[in-house]
Amino acid sequence: MGSEAKKLHVFFFPLMAHGHTIPMIDIARLFAARGTKCTIITTPLNVIDFKDTIDRAKESGLDIGVEIFPFPCVESGLPEGCENVNSLPSLDFTLPFVKALQGFQEPLERLIEKQRPDCIVSDMLLFWTADPAKKFGVPRLVFHGTSTFSLCVIGNILRYAPEANITSDSEVVVLNNFPGEIKFKRSQVAKRSYENRSDFIELRKKMYETELMSFGIIINSFYELEPAYAEYYRKDLGRSKTWYIGPVSLSNRNIIDKANRGKKATIDEHDCLHWLDLKEPNSVLYVSFGSLSCFNAAQLLEIAMGLEASNVSFIWVVRMDRLKAENQILPEGFEERMEGKGLIIKDWAPQVLILDHPAVGGFMTHCGWNSTLEGISAGLPLITWPVFAEQFYNEKLVTQVLKTGITAGNEVWSEWVEPDKVSVTKDRVQEVVNRLMGNGEEAEDMRRRAKELGERANKAAEEGGSSYNDLTSLLEKLRVHSESD
Ligand code: UDP
Repeated sequence: MGSEAKKLHVFFFPLMAHGHTIPMIDIARLFAARGTKCTIITTPLNVIDFKDTIDRAKESGLDIGVEIFPFPCVESGLPEGCENVNSLPSLDFTLPFVKALQGFQEPLERLIEKQRPDCIVSDMLLFWTADPAKKFGVPRLVFHGTSTFSLCVIGNILRYAPEANITSDSEVVVLNNFPGEIKFKRSQVAKRSYENRSDFIELRKKMYETELMSFGIIINSFYELEPAYAEYYRKDLGRSKTWYIGPVSLSNRNIIDKANRGKKATIDEHDCLHWLDLKEPNSVLYVSFGSLSCFNAAQLLEIAMGLEASNVSFIWVVRMDRLKAENQILPEGFEERMEGKGLIIKDWAPQVLILDHPAVGGFMTHCGWNSTLEGISAGLPLITWPVFAEQFYNEKLVTQVLKTGITAGNEVWSEWVEPDKVSVTKDRVQEVVNRLMGNGEEAEDMRRRAKELGERANKAAEEGGSSYNDLTSLLEKLRVHSESD
């Protein structure tokens, strides 16, 4: 190239929810590492969680900054200070929250007018970013945050409604014209897809329409992980402009970036590493259900007793913020009895740091996509325990397609993040933990497959790998668009 290529400027507008913001920040850092100027848009309380991450990125020479829009919580009918999905008190606040976000359209227009970015990467739920993008001729990329497999299941259900004539939760839903023999019990299918909720249907319609108008879709996955579904998504579901740029968590290379990735851990990372250093390779099970899911005291008791009975070393992350009403969270004397055997982290763990430690040999997860992919990237077999959203679809990918995990056995999708029943008993917890962490043939096979997938994930993200190359081609397309403007 004769003259120096123009530096692109990209806006990143994540949904204010840890599971959406964390990968979007990783994506911004990936773009910045390729010479792009990046601006992350957020609100005053959200920036507190990831300010250190951005400061470190800047210190390392990346051109990355933050623009802050005030969040009018009270005016929007939300509790004061409720600027994040993780702080919504109940399901009833979901739609007011999503509606409140539309108030950011005007400040976004002003910012675009002033800074004239070359692209805006928008969370799928911020569908209204399509209007300012169109008004100013800025290409808009949509980020869903989940697996291609789940996007395909959702697209297939919308198109063929395979559950339409099924009346019982225990009946099986078979996906039509879909790669693989994919079946679910109706109880595992997200209820919104078969219940007439006009508000959610309207929201979904807007997300769908604006996605089709967009410049394309970026996916936190890598092509080799789910090739049949990448093709189905492109060809059958018509999403021809799709870029696979993950696993984005692999952009965190050093201890501090892995430990404080978008939110500060509630345990010192060196204490955590020291605890793990004393354990045998592959001997520790990491147990975490993400940033939102939260079990009642009875279910926590079953997990605690099952872990204790399994006799396997573990790190268990227990979310305390949603449990304030409960006095006795863990069984009496449990923490003392588990000293040395089990490490309990209250609230926020340095997850990627833990998963990457050689002592960790398995991951019990709620199948949020970030956690699932982080487990895959670390080469780990999984115990899958989905709760809500599209987590049951991610479970299916792991247990049936990739064959690197076993299910804990929850079969009932929850509308909200706190299931009210006990779905997995102590005996079942003990059984699946011993199966996954033991030396049986099934476990050895899963371990081997998981290790291979981990290696492929790392290869995809390295220079010259498929995700690296997909990002190169995306940036090239944006550059061409920008120069033709
Ligand atoms: N996470 C973490 N520490 C925790 C809980 C979660 O670092 O104690 C991170 C995790 O690594 C992942 C994200 O938060 O990147 C959670 O996203 P996921 O899609 O797995 O689940 P969600 O929280 O959205 O249900």
